Amino acid sequence: VVDYDDGGTMTTIELDTISKRYGETTAVDEISLQVSDGEFFTLVGPSGCGKTTTLRLIAGFESQTSGAIRFDGREMTGVPPEERGVGVVFQNYALFPHMTVAKNIAYGLRFTDPPGGVSVGDRVTELLELVDLPGMGDRDPEALSGGQQQRVALARALAPGPDLLLLDEPMSALDAQLREQLRVQIKQIQSELGITTVYVTHDQEEALSISDRVAVLNGGGVEQIATPQTIYREPQTPFVANFIGDNNLFTGTVEQVAAGTARVSVAQTVVHIGVSADHSLTTGDRVTFCIRPEQLQVQTQETTATNQLVASVVESEFLGETTRVHLTWKKQELRLRTTDPLAGEVTVTFAPEHAHIVTVN
Ligand code: ATP
Repeated sequence: VVDYDDGGTMTTIELDTISKRYGETTAVDEISLQVSDGEFFTLVGPSGCGKTTTLRLIAGFESQTSGAIRFDGREMTGVPPEERGVGVVFQNYALFPHMTVAKNIAYGLRFTDPPGGVSVGDRVTELLELVDLPGMGDRDPEALSGGQQQRVALARALAPGPDLLLLDEPMSALDAQLREQLRVQIKQIQSELGITTVYVTHDQEEALSISDRVAVLNGGGVEQIATPQTIYREPQTPFVANFIGDNNLFTGTVEQVAAGTARVSVAQTVVHIGVSADHSLTTGDRVTFCIRPEQLQVQTQETTATNQLVASVVESEFLGETTRVHLTWKKQELRLRTTDPLAGEVTVTFAPEHAHIVTVN
């Protein structure tokens, strides 16, 4: 395998309280974050949350209204995009239809020579192998599938040997199956190159599956930055709890606190929840906690389990590997996962340690 790293350079990114305003609209609102060398870092959030604007600020296509962006500690304000050492891939491949695949990739070298002193032709050959399109240089882009076209766009972005790779929803134009394939390929190429990468998506599943760390954005600000596991299991805000995967959110009043657990009254039902060292609860506190659907257990027989909720099944969606069941409990909607569809009235239980506290007031 060819070493694509031009001299083992390290690249970190720091966003230091950056904001971007367009007239009355604040697209990015005091975002601070750091991306480590070689990290796959994802910005995820709903439409309009400021993901693309943040990426464009990093690339240098836009300049921030306030705050600083640093690469390896070097301030980037005023540095034009072509001098930032970034490779960018957009959602619509943006390949030139009248140029061959090879010419499209070579276009990535219009500002710089290929890294490592190789010829343009050799560089293109290397990149075609890297993105698993060997020998396809003479094709026209339209003779390729959407996923292949997007790999050509990736090869073009990587051609000059950038220090950073920025990807803006590169898979949004593809169907579900191609997206899954391409995300594995992108992740493999990224780890092979060890290139610091910032990825933008609105798809939470994609964010969890591909990233080392994820920043969940909402209304131009950061809700939480953490590993996919932490984002999923320990959401810090109700927004993150709801946005990332299916979830069950409960709000109640703390009745009693003991070591590591609390008794909480939710809709006139007493439940026991685990309390981690991150939260100190007092009697009378209003607490919101979440339980992931896969942590709710359906009991088929009488049980003496602690937390029992008697709920009615509204609908069972058979999804193949799993069935997603929608229920109502005390006018509240619940979701859980089972192997087979359910109907009627069921007893649902959960272990105290599977309740994760999101907020305390
Ligand atoms: P999407 O997934 O829909 O692209 P996003 O999270 O990437 O959304 P941005 O495109 O960054 O969000 O936009 C954030 C906000 O800034 C939106 O309210 C958008 O309308 C606004 N905005 C973005 N670019 C401009 C612009 N050039 N002029 C005015 N407002 C803008």
